Amino acid sequence: MRINAFSDVSLRVLILLAAAPGGADVMTSKAISVQVGTPYHHVTKIVARLRELDLIEVTRGRSGGVRISPAGRQVTVGWVLRTFERRTDVADCETPAGNCPLLDGCGLRGALGRARSAFYSELDDVVVASLAHQPRLASTPLTLGSPAIPVA
Ligand code: SF4
Repeated sequence: MRINAFSDVSLRVLILLAAAPGGADVMTSKAISVQVGTPYHHVTKIVARLRELDLIEVTRGRSGGVRISPAGRQVTVGWVLRTFERRTDVADCETPAGNCPLLDGCGLRGALGRARSAFYSELDDVVVASLAHQPRLASTPLTLGSPAIPVA
């Protein structure tokens, strides 16, 4: 399985913010953009979505910015992926002419669905904040996967 770009960068942002000592540090979206290797306008969309979900807190003003929230400190990778992944099936099961001709009685489709559930279940035990390694994040921009993202 491959996670989508929105999920990937959202996780980067949460990991980065969780690495701030005590969650007290406030970062601007511009600084986040640099640290997660993602264009600013994509980061602003992600920040807005994470705020809607109460995973981060945003303060305005000269010393304002973004910090992780208590809920963001407890959220799991599985929850984030389930929330942001729009596809429900692993395979499209479609051809240019319509449904896959093997659709009736196909066992692979069910097996892929079970594998997908197992993938998320494994990540339901992984707290995003536990993935933050402060010394490395403090000095090095993140390089998780591809930096260029087409945000849906
Ligand atoms: S073989 Fe099965 S899983 Fe693959 S596309 Fe056809 S119906 Fe879907």
